[in-house]
Amino acid sequence: MADCIFCKIAAKEIPSTVVYEDEQVLSFKDLEPQAPFHALVIPKRHVESVGALTAEDKDVIGHIMCEVIPAIARDNKLDKGFRVVANTGDEGGQTVKHLHFHVLGGRSMQWPPG
Ligand code: AMP
Ligand code: ZN
Repeated sequence: MADCIFCKIAAKEIPSTVVYEDEQVLSFKDLEPQAPFHALVIPKRHVESVGALTAEDKDVIGHIMCEVIPAIARDNKLDKGFRVVANTGDEGGQTVKHLHFHVLGGRSMQWPPG
């Protein structure tokens, strides 16, 4: 999608520090890490948010949840735990309107979030 920063990262038009990549999915380090480990996981195909997902996205979201995120956690030794967050829409705190899952780890997390 034109003018989408994460589409540009997926297309390698904007550099990122890649954590994981396959045909459908890219994971890269967050520019402003909120934890010792902070990566974003995106489907390469543009979809705005969790709120915009449809049945067509089942395979890629299943792949992200069931394979990609567990592999990232294993590879980065997040064995004590980690947090997966998908900020959704303006009140959900989503600033980049291309679906992304934050994977945060390496410190204790507080709940509830602000
Ligand atoms: P959200 O507020 O949930 O939409 O998260 C967007 C995240 O994208 C923030 O944590 C930003 O730090 C991160 N971010 C924005 N631009 C970049 C970029 N070029 N490379 C890596 N992370 C980015
Ligand atoms: Zn996009």
